[in-house]
Amino acid sequence: MLKSVLIANRGEIARRVIKTAKLMGLRTVAVFSDVDYRARHVAEADEAVRIGGPLARDSYLKIDAVIEAAKKTGVEAIHPGYGFLSENAAFAEACARAKIIFVGPPPSAIRAMGGKSEAKALMAKAQVPLVPGYHGEEQSPSVLEKAAGKIGYPVLIKASAGGGGKGMKVAQDQGEFGDQLASAKREAKSSFGDDRVLIEKYLAKPRHVEIQVFADTHGNCVYLFERDCSIQRRHQKVIEEAPAPGMTATLRQRMGEAAVTAAKSIGYVGAGTVEFLLDEHGAFYFMEMNTRLQVEHPVTEFITGLDLVEWQLRVASGEKLPLIQDQLAINGHAFEARIYAEDPDRDFLPQTGRITEFHVPHKNSHVRFDAGVGMGDTISTYYDPMIAKLIVWDRDRASALEWLRKALGQVEVGGLITNISFLTKLANNKSFAKGDVDTGFIARHEKELLPSVPPASDDVLALAAVCFLRENPPEGNPPTDPWLLADGWRHFGGAHDHLTLIDMSGNQVSHKIGVEYVTDGFVFHVRKSTVPVRVDLFGYGSLIAEMSGRLIKLGFNRAGNDITLFLNGVSYRLKRAGIAMDEENGEAAALRIMAPMPGRIVAVHVSAGKMVEKGAPLIMLEAMKMEHTLKAGHAGKIEYVGCKPGDQIREGQELLRFATPEA
Ligand code: ADP
Repeated sequence: MLKSVLIANRGEIARRVIKTAKLMGLRTVAVFSDVDYRARHVAEADEAVRIGGPLARDSYLKIDAVIEAAKKTGVEAIHPGYGFLSENAAFAEACARAKIIFVGPPPSAIRAMGGKSEAKALMAKAQVPLVPGYHGEEQSPSVLEKAAGKIGYPVLIKASAGGGGKGMKVAQDQGEFGDQLASAKREAKSSFGDDRVLIEKYLAKPRHVEIQVFADTHGNCVYLFERDCSIQRRHQKVIEEAPAPGMTATLRQRMGEAAVTAAKSIGYVGAGTVEFLLDEHGAFYFMEMNTRLQVEHPVTEFITGLDLVEWQLRVASGEKLPLIQDQLAINGHAFEARIYAEDPDRDFLPQTGRITEFHVPHKNSHVRFDAGVGMGDTISTYYDPMIAKLIVWDRDRASALEWLRKALGQVEVGGLITNISFLTKLANNKSFAKGDVDTGFIARHEKELLPSVPPASDDVLALAAVCFLRENPPEGNPPTDPWLLADGWRHFGGAHDHLTLIDMSGNQVSHKIGVEYVTDGFVFHVRKSTVPVRVDLFGYGSLIAEMSGRLIKLGFNRAGNDITLFLNGVSYRLKRAGIAMDEENGEAAALRIMAPMPGRIVAVHVSAGKMVEKGAPLIMLEAMKMEHTLKAGHAGKIEYVGCKPGDQIREGQELLRFATPEA
């Protein structure tokens, strides 16, 4: 068995690998970039080596620096995690040259599956079924357009070197083809440095069903069943589950065997995933093979009771697979929800910022929480905005889904906008509960799922008001002497006040709330209702209050005039209007479009003097390797445009201004 391993990665997967390696008695070495010197994976490894600057290409993608770190610390093996160098054949070769074991397949297998086009050609030869399409070398727009016409619209344009949904665009008809091709090529070029594409028939209502395979160096290869990853947005996985709802034993075996055929045909070793699209009639088509451990591997671990990283390390040590196909079985059902720093209500725009509140669900035999970050850490533009993975298990799908809802309700992340409210809506969706999933699920159910945060109710507004009005008590127990409370209590009673709260979800409606201070709490006048709130306990980030005879326990996170309330898996964001921001200024702010994150301007769709409708695309920017379109929040006349294609922009920079509507 190996005695030491370097983990050439960061975040949750680095921590995940370190955990198993330590359990197996291996010495662990982490690597880190300049901005990660205090990251959790660094603290958890036995040793750590600084390998370069914050940009991935200067550190986590730098082959020489990683190999150097491995030599310096004398490790026997390198585990690449997922992303970064995990599917880089040159890196696997560099390991071999340095006499270091690469925990993964041989370079030839990585190469064989590296290009989507080449992989498809190989799979066709091995008689693994494929989606009809064009995977040719010829890349001129006219040839591609002709191929699209022959396949028949709608078609999907995919970056041949692609991954993570980047460089992938749908063209509904010939009219759209040119623009979509250009956009796919741009994303492909900036993400992978390679703008070759392939064209495929865009299937209606397919499911994404993938098979986990495992092979050793002794010629054994098994499949560890399937995962259904159909719940996607922008072709990126959001919720994954195993087994796939409605899967039959026969289909499972056919898909499993096809995946094993695919793996064997390229001399595969280690953990790999063969991704298929499954249509409504039970026909399945090879999409690609990921030659590494997947983000969603924990659902397979839950249903098989196995540790896939342990298997990887055993195979890398030259051992045989611990089990053969007949010894493998599925037990129960598991879900994984990916928690991201992103705003589902603004087209899933990635978010950056410092985590000022981090509350994880109670772990038990049903709930696992794999996080890369924690309280006080920063989600930056340098790396993927994934915060954590929540994985749950129970004996059947309905019970597992119950755990998913419960555990999501316990996650509190403050300081930046997350998709937790959105995940909660998904987990509560009736069609999802029925297992009626396909890759179009989110788009089809958009009306039920978005906005992910509902408008704040009277009760929510009252609770937010409590948080603003009651300052945190000093250390220890909250003071009970009314004279010590900074809560506006007056000896002569009947103090009245008001405050204005802006509900930051949706249309940013502001609410004027009347306040009466009473001995053990407040009486609020919200819209047309009167809401008495008795405050039982007010501590750092949590509040227990009684409303209409019900005790409500909630977490909150406050920073100045901004507050987030965490209530049953929904994160409500509210802002207190003060001197700096009254209702009028709130309106004025919406007239200016600011850059939501640093990036580069790709296209400007409007010019000064032009009238636009609500929802019209204004500016397209590229940030974190994805293109985002900023749309008009309301109809109006453009007064000023402050950017042009190619500009590098700062976060918060004014990009465009609407003219003030005439009274
Ligand atoms: P990536 O490597 O970027 O993740 P994939 O080729 O794995 O890209 O595809 C990602 C997702 O895109 C799939 O899970 C599926 O939802 C969708 N998709 C891919 N190919 C097709 C297709 N031919 N028809 C319909 N949807 C597709």
